[in-house]
Amino acid sequence: MNLEVLNGMLRPKSIAVIGASNKEGKIGYTVLKNLFADGYSGEVYPINPKDKEVQGLKAYSSVLDVPGEIDAAVVIVPAKFIPQVAEECGKKGVKGLIIIASGFSEVGRKDLEQAVVDTAHQYDMRVLGPNIVGILSNSDNCNASFAPCLPLPGKAALVSQSGALLIAMDTSTYTRRVGFDKMISIGNMSDVNFGDLVEWLDADENTACMSFYIEGLKDGRHFMRAAREAHKPIVALKSGVSAHGAAAAASHTGSLAGSGKIYEAALEQAGVIRAADLNNLFDRTLALSLQPPMQGDNMLILTNGGGVGVLATDAAERAGLPLRFAPEDVQTELKKHMPEFGSARNPVDLTGMAGVEWYHDTVRYSFAHPWVDGLAVLYCETAMTIPQEIAESIKQAIDESGVTGKPITVSFVGGEQSEAAMQWLLEQGIPAYDAPDTAVNALAALREFAQGRDTMAKPFVPFNDVDEEAARAVIAEARADGCRNLTEIESKAVFKAYGLPVAQTRLATSEEEAVRLAEQIGYPLVMKIVSPDILHKSDAGGVKVGIKNAAEVRETYHTILKSVRAYKPAADLHGVAIQEMAPWGTEVILGSVNDPTFGPAMMFGLGGIFVEILKDVTFRVAPVSPEQGLKMLSDIKAGAILAGARGEAPRDRAALADILSRYSQMIVALEDEVAESDANPVLVYEEGQGAIVVDARIILKKK
Ligand code: ADP
Ligand code: MG
Repeated sequence: MNLEVLNGMLRPKSIAVIGASNKEGKIGYTVLKNLFADGYSGEVYPINPKDKEVQGLKAYSSVLDVPGEIDAAVVIVPAKFIPQVAEECGKKGVKGLIIIASGFSEVGRKDLEQAVVDTAHQYDMRVLGPNIVGILSNSDNCNASFAPCLPLPGKAALVSQSGALLIAMDTSTYTRRVGFDKMISIGNMSDVNFGDLVEWLDADENTACMSFYIEGLKDGRHFMRAAREAHKPIVALKSGVSAHGAAAAASHTGSLAGSGKIYEAALEQAGVIRAADLNNLFDRTLALSLQPPMQGDNMLILTNGGGVGVLATDAAERAGLPLRFAPEDVQTELKKHMPEFGSARNPVDLTGMAGVEWYHDTVRYSFAHPWVDGLAVLYCETAMTIPQEIAESIKQAIDESGVTGKPITVSFVGGEQSEAAMQWLLEQGIPAYDAPDTAVNALAALREFAQGRDTMAKPFVPFNDVDEEAARAVIAEARADGCRNLTEIESKAVFKAYGLPVAQTRLATSEEEAVRLAEQIGYPLVMKIVSPDILHKSDAGGVKVGIKNAAEVRETYHTILKSVRAYKPAADLHGVAIQEMAPWGTEVILGSVNDPTFGPAMMFGLGGIFVEILKDVTFRVAPVSPEQGLKMLSDIKAGAILAGARGEAPRDRAALADILSRYSQMIVALEDEVAESDANPVLVYEEGQGAIVVDARIILKKK
């Protein structure tokens, strides 16, 4: 991506306001006024075909009449004029169109929107919006928007898909004391999308943390790639459980995928830190923009109140970072700075008797201790202490410790004095919150940032013992027969080409052949109908397990054909599969869909009631490494069963993780062909005994 062009658009040295107005109350009036009011120092050119002057500045009837260069054009004229505006801007050499105007895809005029983007791209211009509030940047004193003011200065950058929310967040930065350098309204995302902005903001010297409000991504894969490669934390509030994928889904996996689970997975896989709500987005943004990542799980909590300590402990647990007791040496040292009835375990309770010195000494010691990965310092206002003095002692202790690269968050619960002390702490770069659970949750965000980085460091490495050609040959043959549903035999051949262990299966087209194949494979065995028209074989009476001899083979051959014919007379029957019978094992299910936003995605769960009734499944965007595969196994609630619950031997999770990873590689490699697939069930054995796919299914894309 060309960052220079985006630089021109988002940090412009000159701006044309197309639709600048003299009429108070019009957006074209406010945008121009905001540029002056907030001290923008670049060139500003009002464009207005009727007025000679706008707000005291010489106005031009077209950008083509402007003598100087124009980096960005803020466009406020009615939608129908904008294709023309884009053409003129392109000719003028404008770098980016910031289209505030609405009336495009949001009202069904996708065509108009696309026309503007196409024109822009002909001239190497980028388009932000349409249907946006504009852009705000403290480091450029640039308020090219109709938001009332620049946000409280800081190091975060907000990108919001909702304009109204951006305006609301903008003004609330002052009361919430969370500083932003930039706010970018992204609107319809006709061109510039979240992925572009991740790349641009990651390179921007004034941004330390990206804070996103997301309703839906357009190019999910691009976003994931950009987010993975970013060095800075991204915290996102994702709204709306999407119905993505549900509409087109014929399969089980498809219907389970419709619940936003793929979004959840994708964001996590991309190392994006999640915010639970708007408050949480602000709180986490504050910590992420001021403090370094937390490199281990050991959070130490220091407090002068038992109650806030308990609240903080609960919050740590909820945030997935349960507290551990501090080691012996830490406890012994801390004991020296508290009364007999204090506690040095974790949370460390200095008690209400704690004054400036105890705070100072314990903070200094703990922050420097190698066991401590992150520190949350909590304080309840007491009659014996002065909040400002406590704040200063904390800051002093941190400085004296000489430790950098370790995070701290603080919470002061109290009145005006505490408020003032927290304000002071913020100015020192220490995130301070008015509730203990918030301070802990913010510290947990810094832990999530580090964990995300660790995961990114272990990417998927493709297996090279795969035979894509063989897989494609099977698919081509089915397509030649006009089939989109591969039979179990065909599906297994594709699976096998990717190194997935499948139960040996052969096709018999006569009773005699069935017996011959049965003798070769050996008893006991399984017989199944083979037909592209029968997706659920058991429902059609098309599966028989535990066949013990030739006589049973002969009999079953006919009963299967007979019941399937009765079930679906028009079905095209290829014959009967003779299959090795796998020993009993734990049944698990793998499935895949093509998500409209993220492409090939996979599902994993335990078979039977776990998936059917409890919907206990987990999703990932493919591909996944075997390590991530292992993580999937413990993500589901029934994961404990695989780990060996209630005296059962643990299942072969390593083999299963390998299967998940290979399967994910398969669905990515064959993305152009495969719409959906599943392995249902896979039987998993005790550790070291592996797993085997006994039923497989692939549905091809329409072509
Ligand atoms: P369906 O099309 O109905 O899903 P399956 O091939 O999955 O048909 O067979 C139904 C059930 O029979 C499976 O869930 C599994 O429990 C059992 N089964 C199928 N094939 C085998 C096999 N090769 N070895 C052992 N059990 C099998
Ligand atoms: Mg099945």
